[in-house]
Amino acid sequence: MKHNFNAGPSILPKEVFEEASRAILNFNDTGLSILEIGHRTPLFESVLNESVALMKELMGLDANKEVLFLHGGASTQFFQVPMNFLSKEKKAAYLDCGVWGTKAYKEAAQFGRVEVVASSKDKNYSYIPSGYAIPEDATYFHYTTNNTIEGTQMHHIPDTSVPLVADMSSDILSCSMDFNKFTFIYAGAQKNIGAAGVNIVIVDKKFLQSANSGLPSMLDYRQHVENGSMLNTPPVFAIYVCMLTLRWLKKLGGIQAIERLNNEKANLLYTTIEELPVFHLPVAKENRSKMNAVFTMHDAELEKVFLSRCKEEGMVGLSGHRSVGGFRVSMYNALPLSSVVAITELMKDFSNKYGS
Ligand SMILES: *Cc1c(COP(=O)(O)O)cnc(C)c1O
Repeated sequence: MKHNFNAGPSILPKEVFEEASRAILNFNDTGLSILEIGHRTPLFESVLNESVALMKELMGLDANKEVLFLHGGASTQFFQVPMNFLSKEKKAAYLDCGVWGTKAYKEAAQFGRVEVVASSKDKNYSYIPSGYAIPEDATYFHYTTNNTIEGTQMHHIPDTSVPLVADMSSDILSCSMDFNKFTFIYAGAQKNIGAAGVNIVIVDKKFLQSANSGLPSMLDYRQHVENGSMLNTPPVFAIYVCMLTLRWLKKLGGIQAIERLNNEKANLLYTTIEELPVFHLPVAKENRSKMNAVFTMHDAELEKVFLSRCKEEGMVGLSGHRSVGGFRVSMYNALPLSSVVAITELMKDFSNKYGS
């Protein structure tokens, strides 16, 4: 039995894997594989339509929002957003809280003026800045809701009249919030929604009217909307896996239900680590991520020993990102509480043995 703490691609519900593997051999009793049906068939259209409808339902999106399933991962959104909405005459505001947010504003600078309103780089991105001002004349304000690598998470929505653009790749559908406050949301699917290869984009229809024209079709959101995410062959299988995961989440009770479980997992992990002297939590308490918990050990020599103990227990994906070091426990929606219980028990044992 494995405990999968991978940061992404990451754990998905077992029943999603089972259903997806059946569909590879025989999709909906058609005698065909999901991998060989045309995308412009009623069979696939129903998969895409249901996926869009489930996203809207689970997130409580209002009628002004369009949901797209696109290629290119979240990294494509780093430049596609400014390509559509920015120009040399316009300015966008960015919050710099980690590796992904930095990439996002650097890409944006190729298309227009960028103002980084605050950064936590001074302390190795171990906190989320507060008290910064978002310039009123910005076309949009971009931030990363959960910093996957650094283990910080924004637990509130910034109060501003500037249109909000958020990279929600690693915490989308994990906790309830008023998603309608956002003008633009994007997320690579491979952390909380489904298989790698598809990217979810949620955009406000009115904001879309302000998009630049003359763009390559595949990078033009308006064309994607007009064509219902079928401008070209969509990532059929990846979307299908999203649909199954969204069905699973709905059956479980939706975002509210998963949020209770995610809170329980994060509380158990953080309160355990706080009590154990061999471990260290580098992130400011109020900014801790409920999806990716980052920790180190006071004695770096012990880190290798701990990692090999984890391996013996079937725990995978625990090494911190190369830019941070230490450990990272990713606790996405599909990670069961039992996996967090297992690692906290191991940590307690380890601390008893090596902590002095
Ligand atoms: C993983 C991740 C990305 C990168 O996603 P790709 O799909 O690999 O481009 C971007 N932003 C955040 C917050 C992430 O967690």
